[in-house]
Amino acid sequence: MSAKKIIVVGSTNMDMVVKTSHIPVPGETVLGGSFFMNPGGKGANQAVAVARLGGEVSFISKVGNDIFGKQSSQLFEEEGISTRYLLADAGEPSGVALITVDAHGENSIVVASGANANLLPKDLEAALNEIAGAGILLMQLEIPMETVHFAAKYAASLGIKVILNPAPMNTLTPELLQHVHIITPNSKEAEMLSGIPVNSIADARKAATLIAGMGVKNVVITMGAQGALILEDGRFEEVPARPVEAVDTTAAGDVFNGALAVALSEGKTLAEAVQFACQAAAISVTRLGAQSSIPHRNELIVSNL
Ligand code: ATP
Repeated sequence: MSAKKIIVVGSTNMDMVVKTSHIPVPGETVLGGSFFMNPGGKGANQAVAVARLGGEVSFISKVGNDIFGKQSSQLFEEEGISTRYLLADAGEPSGVALITVDAHGENSIVVASGANANLLPKDLEAALNEIAGAGILLMQLEIPMETVHFAAKYAASLGIKVILNPAPMNTLTPELLQHVHIITPNSKEAEMLSGIPVNSIADARKAATLIAGMGVKNVVITMGAQGALILEDGRFEEVPARPVEAVDTTAAGDVFNGALAVALSEGKTLAEAVQFACQAAAISVTRLGAQSSIPHRNELIVSNL
């Protein structure tokens, strides 16, 4: 069976990072050290993960009519991501994240959503045929909730599997959750959704049961170095993380979600897909950065993956 197309609907940001001795307090100016720009945004990270891991991906997103928007578009094309539905907003600038990182690796981040906040349901109308021809719709929560809801409802009505990575957490209505095939919170998001602390796999089991009770078919809770917990049709399965020397976990969740979508698009079971996702995410935590840390398919050395 050939793999089905994956649609990612989500955010594109440009991360602007300055390294500094300490993070300034209000009113303080610090002369910082090196400056670099990294393409980011959860939608973009997950679309890049899908492409590098061998999936066919179309990315629906909104950038500004500015230099960052053009740079992002060029980067996506270089990754082999279809940018036919990458829209340029006439009024708002591209989303940016302003990040300061101090000598201890602590950071402080301000995000200006810009054009991401203008990705509205009407913007998806031109892409409805594209969505209809896909096997999987992958979304996060850095765009307006009404757009997430609209896309999920449309895709689910056609039997397309909706994967929702509820990051950053927002209010999830029962109407939205009924359209979601798999929800993929991390432990903190699982805690916010379920209302109980999630530190161990035993806690994750309880939280997953509560989340499934809200109307989602399948729950996958990512637990960092503890791996992931699956609740599928009322059955639990634990998938351990691959033991690695973690250097930087930025975007581990994005790699996990992109990989999960790729494996499912190839017809793998949910348990197989979560194993694949844990392998891919483990590689990403051994490297610095967000998109720079996302592995390619040929780096997954485990047999049958
Ligand atoms: P982030 O916000 O850092 O991008 P996240 O909080 O969304 O990540 P996590 O649950 O921390 O998501 O990690 C996602 C997956 O990445 C885990 O399920 C696991 O498979 C892998 N992973 C994360 N941290 C480690 C680690 N230290 N060692 C091995 N695998 C890891």
